[in-house]
Amino acid sequence: MMDLKDKIAIVTGAAQGIGKVIALGLAKCGADIAVSDINEVSLNEAVKEIETLGRKAIAVKMDVSSLKDCEAMVKKTVETFGRIDLLVNNAGITRDTVLLRMKEEQWDQVIQVNLKGTFNCTKAVIRSMFKQKSGKIINISSVTGAMGNAGQANYASSKAAVMGFTKSIAREYAHCGITVNAVAPGFIKTAMTDAIPDKDRDAMISLIPAKRLGFPEDVADTVCFLASDMANYITGQVIHVNGGMYM
Ligand code: NAP
Repeated sequence: MMDLKDKIAIVTGAAQGIGKVIALGLAKCGADIAVSDINEVSLNEAVKEIETLGRKAIAVKMDVSSLKDCEAMVKKTVETFGRIDLLVNNAGITRDTVLLRMKEEQWDQVIQVNLKGTFNCTKAVIRSMFKQKSGKIINISSVTGAMGNAGQANYASSKAAVMGFTKSIAREYAHCGITVNAVAPGFIKTAMTDAIPDKDRDAMISLIPAKRLGFPEDVADTVCFLASDMANYITGQVIHVNGGMYM
C-alpha cells in the first residue's frame, strides 16, 4: 500500500462510483479528504465511510462547472486542513448520442463539466501548490479520449482535451515540484456498466485482451501510486488502465 499519511486530497465527483472508490483508496493510504460532488446526500455517506477508516473528511457540495464553487471548495479545504497536496479531477458526465441527433446543449454540458470543470478546479488549486512548491494533480480521462467512440463525440472530445490540458499544465509547473498526470480508464464495472444488457456487455468484454471489465479499485490503485512519492518523477503522462483494450 502507498504511503500518503497526512496528505490532504480533494476528490471531485466523489459521492459515488469511481470517485468514491478513489477517495476511500486515498484514505486507506493515510490521506484526509475533501469529498466534493454536486450530489449532497451520497456525499455525507462517503464522508462517514472515510471517517470509519480513521481519517478526516469534509463534504463539499459544489458544481465543478462553476469557477466560484471551485474557489470556495479550495478555500474550505485550506481552512479545514491547512494545505492541499493532491487534486483528483474525477467528476464527469456523459450525454451520448450520434452527431445527427446531438443537441448543442448536450455538447456544451459535457464540455462544461468534463473539460471546463477540470480547468476550474486546477485553476483554483494551482496558486497554493505553486506557493508550497509541491502538489500533485491527477485528471481522470478515458480510453474514449484516445480511441474515439461512436455516439460519444462530445465525451471523447472532452476527455482528449483533458489529456492536452494535463500535458500543458505539467510543462508549466514541473519546475516547482508539481506533477500533473491523467488516468484513462477503459470499461470499468460501475452501476452504468451493470445496466448494460448481458449480450452487449459480453461484446464489450470480447474487445478487452484481459477478458474482463476493470474494477473501480484498478483505477484507484493507479491514482494512489501517482499521488505518492513513488511517482515524483512522473509528469505529463496518460496512464491507461484498460486491460489492454488500447495500447
Ligand atoms: P458516476 O458514477 O456518474 O460518478 C460521477 C459523480 O460526479 C456523480 O456523483 C455525479 O453526480 C458527480 N458530478 C456530475 N456532475 C458534476 C458536477 N458538475 N460537479 C460536481 N460533481 C458532479 O461516474 P463514474 O462512472 O464513477 O465516472 C467517474 C469518472 O471516470 C468520470 O470522469 C468518467 O468520465 C470517468 N470514466 C468512467 C468510466 C466507466 O467505465 N465508468 C470509464 C472511463 C472514464 P450526479 O450523479 O448527481 O450527476
